[in-house]
Amino acid sequence: MQKGKIGITTENIFPVIKKFLYSDHEIFLRELVSNAVDATQKLKTIASKGVKVGEMDDLAVRVSVDTEKKTITISDRGIGMTAEEVDKYINQIALSGANDFLEKYKEDAAAIIGHFGLGFYSSFMVAKRVDIYSLSYQEDAKGVHWSCDGSPEFEIEDFGKADRGTDIVLHLDDDCAEFAEKSKIEELLKKYCRYLPVPIVFGKKTEWKDGKQQETDEDNVVNVTEPLWVKTPSTLKDEDYQAFYRDLYPMADEPLFWIHLNVDYPFHLTGVLYFPKIKSNLDIRKDGVRLYCNQVYVTDHVENIVPEFLTLLHGVIDSPDIPLNVSRSYLQSDANVKKISGYIEKKVADRLLQIFKEDRKQFESKWDSLKLFIEYGMLSTEDFYDRAEKFALLKDVDGKYYTYEEYRELVKAEQTDKDDMLVCLYASDRQEQFSYIQTAQNKGYNVLLMDGQLDPHLVGMLEQKWEKTRFSRVDGDTIDRLIQKKDAETKEATAEDKSMLTDIFTPNLPKLEKKNFNIDVVNMGQQSLPVMLMQSEYMRRMKEMSRVGGQMSFYGEMADMFTLVLNADHPLIQKLLDESPRTVVAPIDSELKGVEARKNTIESKQYGEKSQPLSEEDKADVENCKKQIEELKGKKNELIAQFNEAHPVVSQLIDLALLQNGILKGEALDAFVRRSVDMMGA
Ligand code: ADP
Repeated sequence: MQKGKIGITTENIFPVIKKFLYSDHEIFLRELVSNAVDATQKLKTIASKGVKVGEMDDLAVRVSVDTEKKTITISDRGIGMTAEEVDKYINQIALSGANDFLEKYKEDAAAIIGHFGLGFYSSFMVAKRVDIYSLSYQEDAKGVHWSCDGSPEFEIEDFGKADRGTDIVLHLDDDCAEFAEKSKIEELLKKYCRYLPVPIVFGKKTEWKDGKQQETDEDNVVNVTEPLWVKTPSTLKDEDYQAFYRDLYPMADEPLFWIHLNVDYPFHLTGVLYFPKIKSNLDIRKDGVRLYCNQVYVTDHVENIVPEFLTLLHGVIDSPDIPLNVSRSYLQSDANVKKISGYIEKKVADRLLQIFKEDRKQFESKWDSLKLFIEYGMLSTEDFYDRAEKFALLKDVDGKYYTYEEYRELVKAEQTDKDDMLVCLYASDRQEQFSYIQTAQNKGYNVLLMDGQLDPHLVGMLEQKWEKTRFSRVDGDTIDRLIQKKDAETKEATAEDKSMLTDIFTPNLPKLEKKNFNIDVVNMGQQSLPVMLMQSEYMRRMKEMSRVGGQMSFYGEMADMFTLVLNADHPLIQKLLDESPRTVVAPIDSELKGVEARKNTIESKQYGEKSQPLSEEDKADVENCKKQIEELKGKKNELIAQFNEAHPVVSQLIDLALLQNGILKGEALDAFVRRSVDMMGA
C-alpha cells in the first residue's frame, strides 16, 4: 500500500467546500453520475474506433443505497482508471482543480452554488470517506482502490476487481443521513439524471402483488436516454411533443405551440420550447425553462441566458456552450450567451410567424393565451417588437382579430380626426362599458378590446411606435370629443344653461373616497343618454400603469377623476332646465357678482404698488360684503335644494350614471332603489 498527500495548498479545504456549497449538497449525485456516464461514453467512442475494450452488453450505470451502512455506490462499466490515472485525474486534477476553483471564486460563493465545476470533489460535501474501486479497459490493467477520508491524505493500493469500470462508494457523513434514504436518491436521480444518455439503474422495478408492492426482476431505469430534444425534428409527430410536455409538466394543460431548437453553428444548442396555456396570473412562473448541459440537468433559473420574456415559456434548452462555472452577472455580458439569447428570440419569432401564415385560424384561436408572452416580448425587447409586429394581433369587442397593419387600414377613413390623428378606441370591459361601446359603434367606429394585463403598457407603446395615433378608451369623453371631426358642428350649450345645470347637479354628486366628480354639459343629440360618466384617460392610464408595476406608483395614491356629462339635448335635461328656478336664481347670481366685485376692489387696496392698510371703514365694508355673500349663497342653495327635493330625477340621473359604471354601492344603492320605487308611483 502506498500513502500520499493530495497536491493541494490549503491545509484542509474540505470544510470550506462544505460551507460554500451548503445549500446545494445534492448536486454531488449529479456530478458522480455524470462522471460515470462520461466514462461509459468514452468507452463507446474508443470501441467504435476499433480498440478492444472487452464485453459491452450492459453499460448501464447503477446507483444503490445501503440504508444500514449509510453508503451510496455509483458503479459504471466505462473505461475505468489505472492507478496512474487515479493519481493524475483524482489526486492532481480533481482535487487541485477544485482548489483553484475555490481560490478564484472565494469572493463569490453564489457563483459556485448551483453550477458545475466541482465534479468528483463534491462527494466530500456529503461523505466522510470516499472509496474508488476501478479497473481500466486496458489489457493487463490491474485493479486499484483509492480511499480518502476528507483530509488531504489518501491511500491507494492494488485491488482485485473482476469487472471493468469504476465503483465510487460514499460513506455518508452523519449529518447527511437523509441521502441514505432510497426515496431521496430516487428523487435526485429524477431531477438531475432523467435525460442522461446512458441507462441509469436504481434497484428493481416494483409491482403490486399479493396486496403489497414487490420487487420484480426488471431493472428500474430512471432515465430516458434519448429525450425528444436530441431527436431530428422531421422524425417527430405532434403527439411526441405533447407526450414529452406531459413528461416534463404532468400537471399542466396542453401547450399551445412548441418550437424545436437545433443549432450547430456558431454554438451548439438544442431544445424544445413550449408556449404554455396560462389560465390565470398565478400560473405565471419564471422557472418553466430547464437548462441542460449534454443532457445533464443544470438549473431552471435561465434568466440571462434566454431573453427575459421567454423565461415564461416551458421546455428544455441544452447547450454545452453556456459557461456554467461563472456568476450570473458574468453570464449577462458573455458574448456567447448574448448570441444564444438572440438566436432563441429570433427562432421563437420565426416560428410564430410561420404558424400565423400557415394557419391563421389556429393562431387566432390561441391568441388570447399567447398574447401575454408576445406583448411582454414586444414591450421588453425592441428587436422582438420589430419581428412580432407582423403577427401580433388586436382583437375588437366583437371578437374579430386584426394585425396592426390591417387595423390601421380598417379604421383610417372613419377614425381620423380633424388634426389628422388616428384615434383608436378601446374598451377594457365589454360589459361595464357596454353603452359607451354602443355609442361608438353607432357612429360607425370600431372598438378594440384591451382587457389584458399588459394592455395599458401596450397602448402606450403603440402610440409611440405608430405615427400620429392616439388610443382613447370609449368612456374617456363623449364620442364627438374623442374623435373631433372637421365638419362636425359641435353645438355648445349656452353659458347660462351650463351654469344652471352645474348648480343643480353639483350638490347631489356623491362624496366618495378617492373619487372626484365634476360636471360638464354637452349637446349630444336627443338619441343619446341624458347623463354619462366619463373618466379622464390620462389619470386612469397612469393609475393602471402604476398598478401593473412601474415607477409611477404615486399615481396609484391619487383620486380617480370622473366627469358627469349632461346631455343638454335630452328631453329630461331640457325639462329640468325649463322648470329650474333660473328666473329667481339669475338676479341672485348677478347680485352675488356685484358684491363679490365690490369686496375685491376694497381688498385690492392693500396689495400692489400703492398698497396701504385698510381703513376701519374699509374693513367694516369687507365684513359687510362677506355677510351679504353668505346670505345670497344660502338663499341660492336653499332654492336649489328645494328644487332638487321636488325633482328626484336629479339624483336619479346621477345614480344611473354611477350604476352604469359599477360605482353605486351600499347605502347609496339602497337609496336609489327606494327612490326608483317611489318614482314609479303607487
Ligand atoms: P471533470 O469530470 O469535470 O473532468 P472530475 O473531478 O469530476 O472533473 O473528474 C476528474 C477526472 O477523473 C475526470 O476527468 C475523469 O478522467 C476521471 N474520472 C472521474 N470519475 C470517473 C469514472 N467514473 N470513470 C473513469 N474516470 C473517471
